[in-house]
Formats: sequence, structure tokens, C-alpha cells
Amino acid sequence: MKKRAGLAISAFLIVFLTNAAAHWWPGYFTSFKADAMGRQGLSAADEIARKAETLRSKLIAQRRDFHMHPELSNREERTSKVIAERLRALGFDEVRTGVGKYGVVGILKGKQPGPVVAVRADMDALPILETLDVPYKSQNAGVKHACGHDLHMTVQLGVAEVLSGMREKIHGTVKFIFQPAEEGPPANEEGGAGLMIKEGALENPRPAAIFGLHVMPNIEVGQVGYNIGPAMASSDRFSITIRGKKVHGAYPHDGIDAVVVASECITALQSIRSRRINTQEPLVITVGSIHGGNRFNIIADEVKLEGTMRTLSEDVRTRAMDMMKQTLGGITTAYGASYEIDFGQNNPVTFNEPALVESTLPVMRKIMGENNVVSPRPQMGAEDFSKFQQVVPGFFYFLGVGNKSKGITAMIHTPEFEADEDSLVIGVKLMTNVLLDYLDRESAKRK
Ligand SMILES: [Zn+2]
Ligand SMILES: [Zn+2]
Repeated sequence: MKKRAGLAISAFLIVFLTNAAAHWWPGYFTSFKADAMGRQGLSAADEIARKAETLRSKLIAQRRDFHMHPELSNREERTSKVIAERLRALGFDEVRTGVGKYGVVGILKGKQPGPVVAVRADMDALPILETLDVPYKSQNAGVKHACGHDLHMTVQLGVAEVLSGMREKIHGTVKFIFQPAEEGPPANEEGGAGLMIKEGALENPRPAAIFGLHVMPNIEVGQVGYNIGPAMASSDRFSITIRGKKVHGAYPHDGIDAVVVASECITALQSIRSRRINTQEPLVITVGSIHGGNRFNIIADEVKLEGTMRTLSEDVRTRAMDMMKQTLGGITTAYGASYEIDFGQNNPVTFNEPALVESTLPVMRKIMGENNVVSPRPQMGAEDFSKFQQVVPGFFYFLGVGNKSKGITAMIHTPEFEADEDSLVIGVKLMTNVLLDYLDRESAKRK
């Protein structure tokens, strides 16, 4: 009895002293601290790994809850409530709701002085009918988390939970941004990253950097993908109206055939890609819909075209937009027709600040293993995370969720999309380390 009490007291003293010392020399002790049992002490990375591992079943349950209750862009009411409640329960210093409709911003202050870093997850689902037959199948008919935003939110809540339990080791503040309407708000509504920024998501406090991730089924679980510089394309949605003159289909010379003019315009727009922009520069001009005319024997006076333009360079983006206007202007003038073009719902290039990527890569390699950090080609898909990156330097990387041996290969935005849930713990470990490492590095520079 006595001996055990003595042991307990000395164990208490050792714990007290090492904790006090860790407070004074955090960098040193996070690596070499030994506990009362004399075991090799836990580094911050070990502590994160252990905590993330204990969250495994909770993370899976959380992801499945989000997956069962997907909500469309700007309609993320329940999702937002779940997130805010969770952050409050974790003892966050501040939880702001209603930032950019259903957006949530949480502030977690560390016990050590340092800068502010932000991390962002998106919240919305897509109007896609789920075809997976799983117990956690979508309960909202015709809506599915087909872009993996359920995983993004779950990982970010996991990071929140791990970090809220280790404030002693946080040099600075972590700002958690949960963003609605990444897929684009419904017509005539504002939303997404732009609206969150407008409503102050990046102020009070302003982060020095922002990190984010997207799940990627063509990267195997256990791996992570990154790009230096452009990672995802700009996207510009365009609507074109070609106007001609209605007349009987048998007398075309008395009218102006908007259908013929529109056909020439579509073909000529493709020549911008093939003949006017350097072939080494990625560019996509897709006309995805065409509507015009109302009867087989009437010359149409109006045709509407809708499409999307994608590039990996802001310079190509502006030039291509000018060339589209030039092309439409030239062709419609030749026929005596007219046109209007409207570029809306745009996203800039998702551009990863090279210096930020270079300084983050070592910790990514340490956590994932050298060979599991891969650099795929940039994607022609777009992300409104790019809007945050226009305000503060940011790094957006791709978390592998594919697993060929389990048949998990379907791409995002498909009815069959699925993710290997082992990616949740990995995602939490990786992002927590990335954020802590950033704060350690930047606060060390300030000393
Ligand atoms: Zn998407
Ligand atoms: Zn997405």
C-alpha cells in the first residue's frame, strides 16, 4: 500500500515536472518527453496518431450520419447544426454560425503564442440519386454526398476534436471554416466561399495561411496527392444567346437563322482551343447545352448555349474569354445576327502557394511515408477554395480514398461514388499534423 502510494507520488512529480518543462521548452519535450512508466515519451505526432486512432469508430459513425442526411447547396441546415453543436461541445473559444448562409466558423486558441491558421471543409451534397446499397444510404431522395464533402466535414471535426485536447501544444490559433454551397448556389442566390469571405470568415482574426483537402478516388487510400502552383482549374460558366430573325422555314433568305449561326459558333469556339492557345496550355471550352427554335418549319430567331470554360492559368483564362467574344462577334456579324455572352459562377485557379507547399511537404512525408506522397497532374475540375487563396496563401491537397482491391474506384459526382473509410483516421492525422507543424514553424520564425 505504502510503496504504491510512494510510487504514485513520484509518478505524479515526474508527470508534473515533465509537463512543466514541456511548457517551457515545448519543441524539445514534444520529442523526448518520458512518462512516469519510463516509456519513450510521446511526440506530438505520436499523440495525434493515438488520438486519431481512438476516434476511428466515431469518425465512421459521423461520416455515415452526414452521408444519410445530405443537403443541397445553401440548404445545409441540419449539417450546420450538427457541426456547431459539435464544436461547442469541444469547448471552442468561439463558434459563429450563419456566416454565408449556413457556414460555421470555429476558433480554437492554443496555450502558446503564435499565428493564426485556417482549415476549411465544404458541406453541400449533389442532386444525384444514390445507387449504393449500404446501410447508410442517403435518406434524402435524389440527393447524395457524391463529392465526398461528408468525409471532408468528418475529417475536420476529427481534427477539431484532437486539437481541442492538446491546446498546450498549439502555438497560435486554429480557425475552422465549414463552408456551404461549394458546388455553386442555386440560381439567383449568393453562396459559397465568396459569400463567406464577404461576411467576414477570413477576418477577426485573419489567418496567415489556409489549408484544405479533397477526397480523390483515383488516389489509393493511404496516399496523398499535391501540386505546386495550379492544382485545379479555373471555371467560368457561360451563357450565350444568339439572336436572328424568325421566318417560314421555306424562305431562309428573308430571315436570319440563329440555328445555323449557333452551329458555326460552337465549331469556331473549339478552334480557340485547337488553333489559338498554345497547345502546352490546358484549356477546355465545353458547350453543354443548346436550346433554340420551336417548330420544324420555322427559322429560329433565338438559340441559347450554355457551357463551361476551364484553364490552369489566369492569363489563358482572360485571353480565352476575349477570344470567345471576338469569335462570337465575328460570326454573328457575318450573318447579320447578334449575340450576348454572360460569364457567371466563376472560380479562379486553385493555386497552391509554392513556398507553403515546399515547407509543408516534409511533415506530409513523415506522416504518410515518403512513397505515399504523390504529385498527380493538376485537375481540370474546379474548387471555390481558390477564392480563399486569393485572400491568403493556401494549400489544397488530395486525400486518397480509392481502394482497387475493394472495388472502390468510382469517381466523384457519380451515383456509385464511395470512399474507403480508412481514409478518415488518415485524414485526421495528416491535417492535424500539417496545421500544428505550420504553427510551430511560423511561431519559431517570430522568436
Ligand atoms: Zn463536387
Ligand atoms: Zn467537392
